[in-house]
Amino acid sequence: GTQGIRPLVAGNWKMNGSRAMAASLVAEIRTLAAAGPASVDLLVCPPFPYIPEVGGGLAGSAIALGGQDCHMAAAGAHTGDVSAAMLADLGCSHVILGHSERRADHGESSLLVAAKAKAAIDAGLTAIVCVGETEAERDAGKAENIVEKQIIESVPAGANSSNLVIAYEPVWAIGTGRTPSVADVAAMHRHIRSLVADRGPVRVLYGGSVKPANAAELMAVAEVNGALVGGASLKAADFMAIAAGA
Ligand code: PGA
Repeated sequence: GTQGIRPLVAGNWKMNGSRAMAASLVAEIRTLAAAGPASVDLLVCPPFPYIPEVGGGLAGSAIALGGQDCHMAAAGAHTGDVSAAMLADLGCSHVILGHSERRADHGESSLLVAAKAKAAIDAGLTAIVCVGETEAERDAGKAENIVEKQIIESVPAGANSSNLVIAYEPVWAIGTGRTPSVADVAAMHRHIRSLVADRGPVRVLYGGSVKPANAAELMAVAEVNGALVGGASLKAADFMAIAAGA
């Protein structure tokens, strides 16, 4: 249930594919998008090296381009890192920040995520800030408290509905085929909405094992304003079927 907010369906390709695969996937998505009604906004987030290829494939379309991370600094001596300005320079409008895989693999704290989000917003990008509890945290009844703390610490001052998207992604639902009940998704999204209410109509996406088979049910939940899709975004037909359900 988007409640007046236009849904966003975002594909997080993670560290998958090749240059050839990226080119063919974006061409297929573009063909399918041109054939269907434009009732949702679409975004694809390829690995850094393929951003130029994918951006070229998207030229002239309404499909947006994004990165999967950026550094908190504007430029400088940060070997191996990519700045928000570089993403903007390549035509990106969005960047995913604080994904649970980065929090786990790279020890990213919520305070670092906030600094990255500020850098992204300063560069003119929309920051997609990811939050979500682990299975142990949910089992302990702490899911809402954990997500609340992540939001308070990860969302920078000055972020609002024009430059911020929140993605609620329970860690235990990512890549597992498991999803929370619609009641649990509804409760968490209501809570997140209340936490960002003073920032305007911020999109709050659901992510974690979104597939064509469950997309319509998840997207119908109140306060779910679209999806952040991992595995299923690597198949154009699945990605677009999810978009059709949003
Ligand atoms: P998944 O990943 O759709 O493969 O579960 C979602 C995500 O990590 O953004």
